[in-house]
Amino acid sequence: SLPNSPHIRVQCHSENLEARQRRHLHLQQAIRHAAERNELSLVFQPKLTLNSKRVIGAEALLRWEHPELGQISPGVFIPLTEASGDILAIGNWVLENAMSQAVAWRRDGVLDGEFNIAVNVAARQLSRKDFADQVLQRLERYRLPARFISLEVTESGLMSDINHARQQLAKLAEAGIAVAIDDFGTGHSSLAYLKTLPVSTLKIDRAFVMDLEKSPADRRLAEVITQLAHGYNCEVVAEGIEEDAQADLLLGMGCEIGQGFLYSRPLPAEEFVAWCDTWQAERIISVTESLDGP
Ligand code: C2E
Ligand code: MG
Ligand code: MG
Ligand code: MG
Repeated sequence: SLPNSPHIRVQCHSENLEARQRRHLHLQQAIRHAAERNELSLVFQPKLTLNSKRVIGAEALLRWEHPELGQISPGVFIPLTEASGDILAIGNWVLENAMSQAVAWRRDGVLDGEFNIAVNVAARQLSRKDFADQVLQRLERYRLPARFISLEVTESGLMSDINHARQQLAKLAEAGIAVAIDDFGTGHSSLAYLKTLPVSTLKIDRAFVMDLEKSPADRRLAEVITQLAHGYNCEVVAEGIEEDAQADLLLGMGCEIGQGFLYSRPLPAEEFVAWCDTWQAERIISVTESLDGP
């Protein structure tokens, strides 16, 4: 079979597997000190309603600026911290900073009633027996109403121990924290279990959005996910929207929320607020123009 073929082995050597492993080991150690050395930050990507393009929230995404190597992608360093267990400390850092940002934005009037910040949660965090309690305690400490924070968990995070996950999500849901299943359709979740989980949102992965225009199969998939979500009274968020045509197709399927580079890349907090102001102003102008009509 392919993975054992000599060809593949040669390829691995030419990619220098050892050097990569050394690099990963270095990163794994370096990130342990990243928080205390101020190398971590959050960026925020807006989520919008696809029909009226109203900003209804933001996803918080972690950034790590290594002193010598520069920006390291979370796609690389998050799995490393999941393997080492450091994701627990990092995850707490993310929760703390997302909540303190929410407090600041609430104070400044940036957060209105429906706006919330979505925080990504790794499988290993959710598997803690006191995960939900910790989140709720933090909210209390920040005096932040639960609706201002939502969580994004992956299918693997849910499926590793479904009963535990269900308990944790139930506790969060009861307190008013919305939970989304991230990258839906890319992992191994069982549809039979889905109906037993108190989640409020399914996120369509970028992998299915990317080729919407040219792939009927991906269109069908996005459509099925949307119908599935609505069948369980869940919202649908499409991620990775880069083109108007994709947004139009998704809207046509009934997908109500989207995020992607078409609207904005993830931005540092201050730039995010400036982006929102400009976006809102342009929205009002375009609504007024369409009212004036030709
Ligand atoms: P995710 O949660 O599915 O986040 C969406 C990713 O898609 C982000 O990548 C975002 O920058 C990117 N994206 C959004 N719109 C577009 C688009 O239109 N085009 C393209 N090409 N990409 C788009 P990012 O920030 O590199 O994060 C990658 C993954 O790392 C995240 O996927 C998430 O699984 C993980 N991650 C990031 N921050 C955190 C965190 O604080 N905690 C945990 N546990 N995981 C995180
Ligand atoms: Mg996410
Ligand atoms: Mg995602
Ligand atoms: Mg994704």
